[in-house]
Amino acid sequence: MNATELSTEELESLKDSLLLQKGSILNKSHEFIAEQSSISGAGDEAEVASQDVANNISIHLHERDRTALYAIERALGKIAEGTYGQCESCSEIIGARRLQARPFTALCIECMEEQEALRH
Ligand SMILES: [Zn+2]
Repeated sequence: MNATELSTEELESLKDSLLLQKGSILNKSHEFIAEQSSISGAGDEAEVASQDVANNISIHLHERDRTALYAIERALGKIAEGTYGQCESCSEIIGARRLQARPFTALCIECMEEQEALRH
């Protein structure tokens, strides 16, 4: 049984938009990447896993972008596992409409509102 109520097409388009958002965040760190590669110099260092690169880059991102980047990575991981679209807190289905508005959301609307209430 599929955890999501998303069609394959919807899932693919959400995955595309996650990858696009991830790319645009990482592009902001373009200068940082250039700097790093000139520092490390040696060609062997170029074989760093992309996950490590993302982690290193994220240190230099603004808090909001960093949070978004981790959420995107998590969402992509969940797509791979087949658990995407399920609320992390109550395990309810989040819903296609909400996911399309916020593809990397990890919580259903009820749990999100609960968390926001706790935060303020
Ligand atoms: Zn929930």
